[in-house]
Amino acid sequence: MIESFLRGRVTVTVGDITQQRVDAIVNAANSTLLGGGGVDGAIHRAGGSQILEECREIRRSRFPEGLPTGEAVITSGGNLPAPYVIHTVGPIRGAEGGRDVELLAACYWNSLALAVQHNLSSVAFPSISTGAYRYPREEAAAVSSKAIEDFLTADNTLKQVRLVFYQMGDARLFSENHKFRNGA
Ligand code: ADP
Repeated sequence: MIESFLRGRVTVTVGDITQQRVDAIVNAANSTLLGGGGVDGAIHRAGGSQILEECREIRRSRFPEGLPTGEAVITSGGNLPAPYVIHTVGPIRGAEGGRDVELLAACYWNSLALAVQHNLSSVAFPSISTGAYRYPREEAAAVSSKAIEDFLTADNTLKQVRLVFYQMGDARLFSENHKFRNGA
């Protein structure tokens, strides 16, 4: 763990999202919910076919046109250490008609709300939209920290939100640009 915020409820770490032992890991999915590159590919590879089968069923029964950007759905974690995966679709930078901030915040907020609805107490996030979807890391740090703080201020059931960065330099950029009001 590199640092923590909101009296320890939020922690920042460097690692692989697929290896996190928490109640749910969040997938930076795309609207098809049928897999892709980056985090999405890694989660489906490590978690096995169960996750994809549940995603197909969600597409069929609830989202035949695909999961809208900013929304979140939940499946089991298959072979992952985490029992659940929350799939959310981040905004593609510059392609959302000026709604990038609102949609990235919605990813974090809706993922946390879904975790609470399922009585989960720990959630790990990758840095949504900052890979293939090209959201600048500095701006994503500000938006994600604000959304998480807003959510946790209104909720007292979630015990741990872990922010997992793939590389040390990415965690450092987060540290320099977050908007959490109180450290430790
Ligand atoms: P998006 O399409 O939302 O941009 P990506 O999966 O392309 O999603 O990238 C999101 C972020 O996840 C990037 O910052 C990337 O460095 C990071 N990342 C890629 N693989 C992993 C992994 N296995 N664990 C944690 N973070 C990862």
